[in-house]
Amino acid sequence: MKQFQIACGGQTELREELENFKKECEEIGTPKVMFQIFSEVLEQEVTSQLSETVEKIFPDVPYVGCSTSGNLIDCQITDEIVVFASCFEKESTQVSVYQYDFSKDSMENITKQIIAEADKNPWVKAIELYFSIPEGSTTKFCDGLSGLREDIQIFGGVTCSDDITSDDCCVFSSAGGYSDKSVIVVFYGGDEFYVDSIKMTGWKPLGRKFTVTKSKGSLLQELNGIPAYEVYHRYLNINNDENFFYNTLEFPLFYEHNGTTILRVPVSSNADNSINMSSDIEIGSTVRLSYGDPKTILDSIATESERIRDFRPDVLHIFSCAARKTFWSSSEPTYELEPFRNIAPSTGFFSHGEFVRSGKFLNQHNVTLVIAAMREGEPKANIPEPAVRENNTNISKVPLVSRFATFISATSIEFEELNSMLEVANKNLAAVAISDGLTGLFNRAETQKRIENYLANVNNSEFSLIMLDIDNFKLVNDTYGHQKGDAVLIALANILKDEQTNSLSNFTAGRWGGEEFMLVLPNTNMAAASLIANLIRKCFEATTVADIRFQTISLGVTQAKSDDTMDNLITRVDSALYQAKRTGKNRVVVL
Ligand code: GH3
Ligand code: MG
Ligand code: MG
Repeated sequence: MKQFQIACGGQTELREELENFKKECEEIGTPKVMFQIFSEVLEQEVTSQLSETVEKIFPDVPYVGCSTSGNLIDCQITDEIVVFASCFEKESTQVSVYQYDFSKDSMENITKQIIAEADKNPWVKAIELYFSIPEGSTTKFCDGLSGLREDIQIFGGVTCSDDITSDDCCVFSSAGGYSDKSVIVVFYGGDEFYVDSIKMTGWKPLGRKFTVTKSKGSLLQELNGIPAYEVYHRYLNINNDENFFYNTLEFPLFYEHNGTTILRVPVSSNADNSINMSSDIEIGSTVRLSYGDPKTILDSIATESERIRDFRPDVLHIFSCAARKTFWSSSEPTYELEPFRNIAPSTGFFSHGEFVRSGKFLNQHNVTLVIAAMREGEPKANIPEPAVRENNTNISKVPLVSRFATFISATSIEFEELNSMLEVANKNLAAVAISDGLTGLFNRAETQKRIENYLANVNNSEFSLIMLDIDNFKLVNDTYGHQKGDAVLIALANILKDEQTNSLSNFTAGRWGGEEFMLVLPNTNMAAASLIANLIRKCFEATTVADIRFQTISLGVTQAKSDDTMDNLITRVDSALYQAKRTGKNRVVVL
């Protein structure tokens, strides 16, 4: 695979260059060719002239073109219109170009058609996208194309113009002509065609996490219940004015989606303090602010450029976010692309969004650098030398910024950890406040509160009480010691808990005081409560606790009446228990 740059100063020059190129092609036996045309100029007149010239000299050759925010020739930026020719040398390699118009068909139908087309062509290994749809949601498009065969790599860019704050953009191709609402789809493949697509960001999360609590498509309304803009104002002192876009550009939102990290840039802010994002962010997503750390960016690029170098590509197709150009402009807009310069000839442009597939899912990123490395046949023997960076003076002031950001991130992570510990502690405290320390049952206050609640509703639903007391417990303490006595109390509480899960009545059990317990049985009449009381009595009697045999309890049972007061009710169940004691203990008395 070879690539030729056909410079384009004007129509005459283009015609001459194309004629020369045609002669060269004829000399080498007319290979398969595809043209890429990138232009910062949007006007249909200009792009149509380009298309006509190409079509006239190469009538049957596919071409793709789009408007950009800067064109890349071998990793260097140019604002001139550029025309590239890719020549495919292997017989088996195939390329085809399609164009789908969003103003004529739904997003869903278009993605279905692309999938159907790919299914018809099993040779397809990679799909390149040139997407142009103002204010468009790419989420549906990406979700649709995630249904493509998983071995197909997908990459590409959302087109834009020289003004990155504007939505104006266009695409044009041999398949569909000029359009500002279309996607161009290029299929590449064949037995000897190889491709590796890689994304790089290098942006790092900064500060605390936020949850998207309100959003509609790419309109981000609220984060943690507060207007989204306020987050930018509070944490970064960015004002809601005409500079908003440039000020926020270096601080995109960072979030996990489809198992990968995605960056989204705020495009503009609205009067209601909502923010228009560069693309959709769904409600429920966790997001963080992020910042571009030059060192991290260059480190990630160093790693990925090694991977690309090892692949030994014939050509590179680069889709880099216009925000990255702005980010580096203090040193040089293409500073970060230098490591790729010696690897292979490259074409590309600065985009409004970058597509790349991670696993099954296609995602549209922002502030991201996507590179597709392409090769025909086996890797060439020679490994290109890495490009040597002449100076790195601009990185010298990085450590301070980077250290501050690390400091902020570390402290906010600590705060988040502390917050979640506090939440757990609060929950535990709340549980402690209502339970009895020794037995883990509810304490008297909580039991009382629950009885009061049931009593307030006694006309609608009946309930009963069981009050129980260990027989001759003082003797246990005196004979075996207080510790053994505690063990008996715990054993009785466990019997009550078991009974709670096994019995038909979903009762509440509380420690009333000392060796006295109170059970509250909702939707249970006196007869049923009496049955349950006897079950508990027998169970305790049959249990040997801490080697002490023949432990028994006495129980009083009563059902709440509609005219009961709290005092009445408790006195009645207490009297029942007293009667059980008086009449011989180890028994149930119902009153
Ligand atoms: P009766 O059969 O009439 O209920 O006799 P009793 O000995 O069980 O009743 P009494 O009220 O005379 O004694 C209750 C004993 O319970 C006295 C007290 O030391 C003991 N007790 C109260 N709370 C605890 C506790 O938390 N742990 C232990 N080990 N003993 C306790
Ligand atoms: Mg007792
Ligand atoms: Mg007692």
